[in-house]
Amino acid sequence: MAGEAQADCLFCKIIAGEVPATPVRETDTTYAFRDINPQAPTHVLVIPKVHYPDVATLAAAEPQITADLLREAGEVAAEEKLESYRVVFNTGSGAGQTVFHAHAHVLGGRGMQWPPG
Ligand code: 5GP
Repeated sequence: MAGEAQADCLFCKIIAGEVPATPVRETDTTYAFRDINPQAPTHVLVIPKVHYPDVATLAAAEPQITADLLREAGEVAAEEKLESYRVVFNTGSGAGQTVFHAHAHVLGGRGMQWPPG
């Protein structure tokens, strides 16, 4: 059923504590932890505790949790003392999405180029 944990989902396993992660923040609806392969000095993933494959399906079904996720991205940036940072939602394998559980990347601590590659 939509939103329910998926047995084969890495991020559902992280939420369940079955796969270890380095925590940054947690709320009733979201979890933030450090990316295992950081692309910047700060690279934190913020995920909803409910399972949706990408941010668009999350937003369509759970607008409040989507707002929680975006607020938490800002809270992570504030806690990490990032003056400038990037929030990225890769959507679809062609855009680089590899884990199909909605997540925001919060990246900062270095200069960034535009457009992204
Ligand atoms: P995507 O490529 O789907 O936008 O982002 C998935 C992210 O999850 C990648 O940046 C990748 O490094 C990260 N990742 C993959 N496996 C693990 C893991 O086991 N633990 C953590 N903390 N991050 C992971």
